[in-house]
Amino acid sequence: MAINWLLQGGHQAQNREVISDQDKERREIIKECYCPNGHSILSDAGVFQGHHGLTLKLRNKSREGLLVISPIVGDNERLFIDFERVPGEIVEISCPTCDQPFPIYNACPCGAHLVALFTSDKAHFSKCVGVCQRLGCLHSELLSQRDLRLYNRQDYF
Ligand SMILES: [Zn+2]
Ligand SMILES: [Zn+2]
Repeated sequence: MAINWLLQGGHQAQNREVISDQDKERREIIKECYCPNGHSILSDAGVFQGHHGLTLKLRNKSREGLLVISPIVGDNERLFIDFERVPGEIVEISCPTCDQPFPIYNACPCGAHLVALFTSDKAHFSKCVGVCQRLGCLHSELLSQRDLRLYNRQDYF
């Protein structure tokens, strides 16, 4: 079992979860989210069913603006502010406070990259939300320590 498990990416396969529409039923809300420098990106620039959205700065060669995404896990609602949206375009995603780009941690199935929005102020990849740099791509992932702990309990270490 160990060899196969390692080939499949080891613990990464265990704690990565692709978010789907059905996840909305869980009513799980992202209540904390930070840039690599520890700025909270939750703001009332966009409010979704009473919850503050995750606010991101988008930039390409010619323009910049804001994207606010719903903090409700599985909810694909997003709001573009001052940004002309060209579906399929790949943009840089950065912190609206300090401009630091969110780090790329993986490839998206669409061919672009996923960036990590940290759900703890430790800026650790084991606790983050992954969103795609391609406009119009709704692939997103949830990486959580809870799953990592579950896995620890299985005694592989
Ligand atoms: Zn920042
Ligand atoms: Zn994508």
